[in-house]
Amino acid sequence: MATKKKTKKTQIQLVKGMKDILPDEQLYWQAIKEKVFKAARDYGFSRIDTPAVEFTNLFKRTVGEDTDIVSKEMYSFVTPGGDKLSLRPENTAGVVRAYIEHGMLNLPQPVKLFYVGPQFRHDKPQAGRYRQFWQFGFEAIGDDDPVIDAQVIAISYNILKELGLETEVQINSVGDKESRSAYMKILKQYYQDKKKDLCVDCKKRLTKNPLRLLDCKVAKCRELALEAPQMVDHLSDDAKDHFMAVLEYLDEMEVKYNLDPTIVRGLDYYTRTAWEIVELGNEGKLQALGGGGRYDDLAELLGGRPTPAVGFAMGMERIILKMQENKIEVPKIKDYDVFVAQLGIEARKKAMKLFEELREDDFRVTESMSKKGLKDQMDIANKRGAKYTLIMGQKEISDGTVLIRDMESGVQEIIDYKKVKNELRKRLEKKNQDA
Ligand code: AMP
Repeated sequence: MATKKKTKKTQIQLVKGMKDILPDEQLYWQAIKEKVFKAARDYGFSRIDTPAVEFTNLFKRTVGEDTDIVSKEMYSFVTPGGDKLSLRPENTAGVVRAYIEHGMLNLPQPVKLFYVGPQFRHDKPQAGRYRQFWQFGFEAIGDDDPVIDAQVIAISYNILKELGLETEVQINSVGDKESRSAYMKILKQYYQDKKKDLCVDCKKRLTKNPLRLLDCKVAKCRELALEAPQMVDHLSDDAKDHFMAVLEYLDEMEVKYNLDPTIVRGLDYYTRTAWEIVELGNEGKLQALGGGGRYDDLAELLGGRPTPAVGFAMGMERIILKMQENKIEVPKIKDYDVFVAQLGIEARKKAMKLFEELREDDFRVTESMSKKGLKDQMDIANKRGAKYTLIMGQKEISDGTVLIRDMESGVQEIIDYKKVKNELRKRLEKKNQDA
């Protein structure tokens, strides 16, 4: 008889560059989302969710074919039907596509939208750099007033401040079309006799997209970038006035910023204001927590009407990393009022019913029905911050009663099962008043 050979199955692991977000870390995610939702409410932004999958051309046309994101980092595939699709590497293009496709042009402008969602880039994994990472972002579409730029910057700055992070905005203007084409010539001239000192990527950039020479992180390229002629010295009058106004509003709102001529952002679609946000004291050394800019030409690139717009995206994993490094505490979720405990099989059945009834009546109730011992259950009740525990055992079932324990004082009383909800409400109300 042939014996079956046992083969040990290899364990399937997390895909490289991906990250599980475990329950303990969820507290940070919750804290960030709360600040994001609050800011959205205060500044009048509505939530939008666009799909994680879009036509590849959306990103080729907007982010730009020559950018690292599109040329090296996109998860692209062809469907069985022949569609060329990509997982979104960023969310602004999708939001603007939705703005055009759903006729938001006809709404009062600017249309203010925000999103929270995962993005995908086949980046080199390292601390603070993943292949699926989360961003929240705010986009104000349909207005080119510099006050909107300043407000959008203040939103990102204030969210980080409220989370306990001290940051600084590294800001620049990359000019409008008019000033940019003149500046490109000057920049090319500057780099012409320095070509041999540039990295391989920058050599290509010199012909394809010279502006991006300025944000190369390779040491020698960075040195040259810092000496290069600056865009701000070659702005058209309009672009200069716009930029000065943004800075004045930022002063007024007490947003800390620093003029940085090398901020051009990695994406092609930015015009005029461009910025990144970094932790204070870490300028230049650190990956940015987020960034944004004005993108007045983006809607047109997608076949829409000319529509000025400005927005930012912030990396949520990076914010959490910084919060942890700075030992910033986030509130524990401890919002239970009542724990239902049980002793014995019969009591457990009754306790399950009581738990369901309390839940339906919107009591903040919790349980641990699989535990048998009372001590274990009390420990859990304490950990979850329950104010009262209702205890049911054989005796209580026969008597039609429940034991109610005040978790703070330890005092226990017998109450009529039928009156348990009223009693709970009364006692919780009193506790809240006393608090
Ligand atoms: P970007 O869209 O490249 O301007 O990125 C905006 C922000 O998203 C960055 O400042 C980071 O905080 C975050 N981010 C970008 N790429 C990654 C990545 N691969 N992993 C984690 N966060 C990222």
